[in-house]
Amino acid sequence: MAPAYTGPTMEETRVKTNNDETGLAGDLRSWLSHLGSTGRVAVVREHVKLKHQLAAIAKRLDGEQAAFFPAPDGHAMPVVSGFMSRRGWIAEAMGVRESDLLAAFRKASDNPLPWREVASAEAPCQQVVTRDIDLHAALPIPTHSEHDNGPYITAGLVIARNPVTGIQNVSINRIQVHAKDRMAILMLPRHLHAFYQAAEAKGEALDVAVVIGADPLTLLASQAISPIDHDELEIAGALHGAPLPVVKCVTSEVRVPARAEIVIEGKLLPKVREPEGPFGEFPKYYSAREEREVIQVTAITHRESPLFHTIVPAEMEHLLLGAIPREATLLALLQRSHPGVSDVHLSIGGVGRYHLHVKFKKKREGEAKNVILCAFGAHYDLKQVTVVDDDVDVHDPLQVEWAVATRFQADRDLVVIAGAQGSVLDPSTTVGMEMPGGAPPPAHMQGISAKMGIDATRPVVYHEHVFTKVKVPGEDTVDLAAEITTGATVDWSSMQVVR
Ligand code: MN
Repeated sequence: MAPAYTGPTMEETRVKTNNDETGLAGDLRSWLSHLGSTGRVAVVREHVKLKHQLAAIAKRLDGEQAAFFPAPDGHAMPVVSGFMSRRGWIAEAMGVRESDLLAAFRKASDNPLPWREVASAEAPCQQVVTRDIDLHAALPIPTHSEHDNGPYITAGLVIARNPVTGIQNVSINRIQVHAKDRMAILMLPRHLHAFYQAAEAKGEALDVAVVIGADPLTLLASQAISPIDHDELEIAGALHGAPLPVVKCVTSEVRVPARAEIVIEGKLLPKVREPEGPFGEFPKYYSAREEREVIQVTAITHRESPLFHTIVPAEMEHLLLGAIPREATLLALLQRSHPGVSDVHLSIGGVGRYHLHVKFKKKREGEAKNVILCAFGAHYDLKQVTVVDDDVDVHDPLQVEWAVATRFQADRDLVVIAGAQGSVLDPSTTVGMEMPGGAPPPAHMQGISAKMGIDATRPVVYHEHVFTKVKVPGEDTVDLAAEITTGATVDWSSMQVVR
């Protein structure tokens, strides 16, 4: 007989955090309940119009309060927007301090947790199953920007399985709903697109699921810049500190987060393209109307009282959800070659994608330019990289501009690389390349971009205090509450303090 087991039980070894499925970010409604109980949800009046009016209100509240819309256009299903629109809120959902945000995300993406499958009966997202599809009737889908070509799903996690390995991928893609059971999708040349190309080459459709109303950490995990054979739902599990419960779709083998609000199941059809766009994108410009791939919807499943999430394009929720996982990945990549890099920031003015600020402790002249080259190699979206010293806060645009103003000379500190691949959504990349009639250039000619590197570091060695930042001793430690006389005024004729 084997000796009795005396080690810790499963219950004791299980990583318990406040983010697991019973915690404040375990599903979307738990997180909204937490935001609501701390005054961060604005409950909007009923019957707001889905066309423009809903997005206008959400846009005004973005970064201040999440917006909850009961009965938009009289629809039974409410809509929510803007619940991840501050860095501090995202850190709170992850259960870490804001200063630890990137390190915590990186730790999760380096230590993914495989998901655990639950039965349909235990999956809230399959409480209601509809196979008679009418997207417009079933879901309150907003039309966001002025020139958008109708209603769009902007916060849908698109989940597909690699046709070769079966490993899943998660991404957020814009999805135009232009028929009661068909949707056109933009796929940038990344993992989902690669899966689709592999299926299409064999003349097959690719099963996909579009998940709306996922929990905040799964939304964040979907934006990780991980290799193609890494399932972002495993990063979501690591962020939660517990394996993510998933359920098999009712019409395919795709696994979806069981605690999501709504799942649209469907197939990306081979050799089918339909017009999509224009659509207002994250750079705050419209993408042109082009022929795109099409999803044929096969089922809609949802909770009993579901909630629809929409992201207002180009606002804080959109920019931060993309920026934070990218920052964490870029920081890890830069540190691999340059341990003097201690922080990075994708500026909001740079649409959370294009302009990177790097904090770097330079030991030898020239190193900042190596850091610039390393960053451009890490992600094609980067268009401008500014390297500053470690006395500059990269999250503060005023401090970064100060460093550029006082430590940078364009004739020796500027790096320009012409004709590299950039973001296809940056409208300045296509100037002069338009086809007859002003149409966008063919896909393989889109997104050609120059790269600009700015070395705003001071010399390693300098004379006396010529590059020492001015500081008043005690400015960081002074206790104003102890130093200021509360309630006192001054008699300006006698200059006597009146208490
Ligand atoms: Mn991926």
